[in-house]
Order: sequence, then C-alpha cells, then structure tokens
Amino acid sequence: MSDDTRQTTDTRVLDRLDGMLPRLEALYKDLHKHPELSFAETRTAGVVADDLKRLGFEVTTGIGRTGVAGVLANGPGPRVLLRADFDALPVQEQTGLDYASTATGTDPDGNQVPVMHACGHDMHVTCLLGALDLLAGARETWSGTIVAVFQPAEEIGSGAQAMVDDGLFDKVGTPDVVLGQHVAPLPTGMIGCHPGPALAATDALRVRMFGRGAHGSRPEMAIDPVVMAASTVMRLQTVVSREIAGGDTAVVTVGALNAGTKDNVIPDEAELKLNIRTYTPEVRTTVLESITRIVQAEATASGADRAPEITTLDTFPVLVNDQAAYERTTRALSTHFGTEIVDHGPATGSEDCGILATASGAPLCYWFFGGTDPAVFAAALKNGTVGRDIPSNHSPHFAPVINPTIGIGVQAMTVAALTWLAPH
Ligand code: ZN
Ligand code: ZN
Repeated sequence: MSDDTRQTTDTRVLDRLDGMLPRLEALYKDLHKHPELSFAETRTAGVVADDLKRLGFEVTTGIGRTGVAGVLANGPGPRVLLRADFDALPVQEQTGLDYASTATGTDPDGNQVPVMHACGHDMHVTCLLGALDLLAGARETWSGTIVAVFQPAEEIGSGAQAMVDDGLFDKVGTPDVVLGQHVAPLPTGMIGCHPGPALAATDALRVRMFGRGAHGSRPEMAIDPVVMAASTVMRLQTVVSREIAGGDTAVVTVGALNAGTKDNVIPDEAELKLNIRTYTPEVRTTVLESITRIVQAEATASGADRAPEITTLDTFPVLVNDQAAYERTTRALSTHFGTEIVDHGPATGSEDCGILATASGAPLCYWFFGGTDPAVFAAALKNGTVGRDIPSNHSPHFAPVINPTIGIGVQAMTVAALTWLAPH
C-alpha cells in the first residue's frame, strides 16, 4: 500500500468524526461524572460493553474482574490490539467544571474516599470508542481483526496482569501489535513517544520497623521506632546519590512516614511507604537490595528485637516501546497530523500496558497526546511556571480541554490502528 492510498483511506474512515464529536463529548462528561476506583469499574464496563455491542463487536465482560474486550473480525490480516484503561483515583476533584465528579468509593482499606478521573482514563475510553466507531463504520477500507481491550485497575498496576491471568488472549486471540495512548499535560496537538524503555518500572513498598514502646519520659526503657525510621529515611537518600552510576537513573521517594499518636508516648512501631522508579533490571535490583540492607541495618543499629518487614504494595514493569513498532506508528501519526512526533525521553511515570505486549509476545507502541490549551501552555512556558500552572495527571485540578483533545485522541488511535491493519 502506498502512502497515497493510506491518506485516502484515512479520509474515508475519518469523514464521520465531526458528526460524532457531540456524542463523544457527552460520553466523556458522563464518564467523568461517574469515576470508579480500580477493580470497581462496573458502571464504566457496562457503558463500554453496550457501545461495543452497538458497533457490532463480539464482547466479553468480566475479564480480570471488571475488564472488557471486544473483537471485530473483518477478513484476513493482522490482529491489532487497541487498549484503553478505565479506572479512576481516590482524589477530591477541584476543577470547578460543571461536569466535575462528586463521586465517592470504598478504598481497599474500607474507607469512603472521593473519586475522580484525575489521570484522564475517561478520555482514553472516549477516544478508543470513537476510533472503534470510525473503524467499524468503514469496514470496506481495511482487513484484519481489531481487538479492543478496556482495562481495569491500571492505577494499582494490577489490571493488565489480571486480564492476562484470566485468559485474555485465549478469548481474543494473540495480537500482532499492541497500541495504547495516554492524555498528558502537553499542549493539544502535541504527540510524544519514546522508543525503547519509555516509562519506568515502579516498586511500591511498605516498611514496618519495630521498636519497643515506653513512656516518653523513660527513653532508656524504649527502642524508639521514630528515631529508627527517621534515620532510615535519611540514609535512603544515599541509595541513588551514592550507589547508582551517574549515567543511570532511579528515584527513591519516601511518600509516607507514620508513627505514634502522642508527645509523651514512645510508640511500638513506625511505618514507611516507599516509591521506587527504575529503567533497567540491574538498577532495580541494586536499589531494592540497598533499601533492604539499609532498613535492616538501621533496625540493628537501634537494637530492635524484631526484624523489620518489607512488603510490596504494587509493582509495574518498565514499559518498552518496540523500535520498529515505534517507527511505523509514529511515522503514520506524523504524516496524518503533519507534525513532528516529540521524543520526550524516558518518563518516570509507570504504566502496565506493556504487560499486554510482553505476555502476548507482540510489539508495543504507546504514546502521549496533549490535553492542555496551547495558549495557556505557551503562557506558562514563557513565565517558567509550567510546573505550577499546568495541572498534571493525578492533580485534583487535572482537566483536559474537551476540544480538540477528544478529536485528536480519536484520530491518533484510528490512524495508528490503520497503519497496522491491512488495506482492503
Ligand atoms: Zn495515573
Ligand atoms: Zn493513567
């Protein structure tokens, strides 16, 4: 197929987009108003399944608890997996939008928490359903099989693995390529993609350090877990600065430190929660071993009677964009949008989309698309206040502009899919 043919095909497929946008905007606002926490996405799964059926997809629900997959077989050709994640976060929305969420949910500890689509997964669902609508409505232009995967629980790094473990590829077949996208705090129209390791591996750890409680006036009777934890936090700062080579990258953050209830009571234990980002197995091993060594040594230094406990809260593998898949997909996107695809370098964020590729042996291309008003972004850039003024994913103020973000996300997914499907 020549590039000319591909251009013609795109136009025929994309013709219906403008007429579809009001319905997609309504869908997006509905999803945004009704966010659901990881593995609780039952309403969202229902909305997705209904739309897939309307479009003529063969639908399977309840894969990996709440995941949904749709298959549209349309003659011989490649099997192209298009993925959107659909869970939300325990964040109190502060955007002030008229479609802002006031939803609540129950977190894994049983607490009632506010819920918000603060990572934009509602945008991913909207854009994928829009792309599927375009592709299903122009079946005469392509040949092959589209597999649409709507994945739960990305935010806790469990959803992709849960779908794989529940036999996803037995149900939908093994894909020839996996494509996914994420809305980002970049100006609308900007698309970013990095070949190779593009998103970091994450390990989230809970560390319990055990001391011996006593009256605050009798420190000689205690083994103070507050001092033990404080010393551990400081020593952990040396893992990256002293043990990781200058050319390598890692992040070690202590995001939570909890101990005690009262000024005159030395508590029994302290708890730390750590978040670690790495890009290679070697660096990851070094960092995890160093953390374990330091935590144990600080407990020993304090004279603790009981060894500390380190447990994994969640873990994401590094996301690797296949070089050839990256080149083929970004070339199609660049040609379609008439713009350079920005190589933003490796990001310290994490994503479990890569599991769908590694588990099936398919190459992956995963890209970012901007959701910020370009004028607002340009002003912040000029003032050097991007970090302050442009809300990023997970912020209670994160609010992608609806137009043209939805249209761009739909086009990106559609064009990327078409470049892998066979021409008819
Ligand atoms: Zn997120
Ligand atoms: Zn996300």
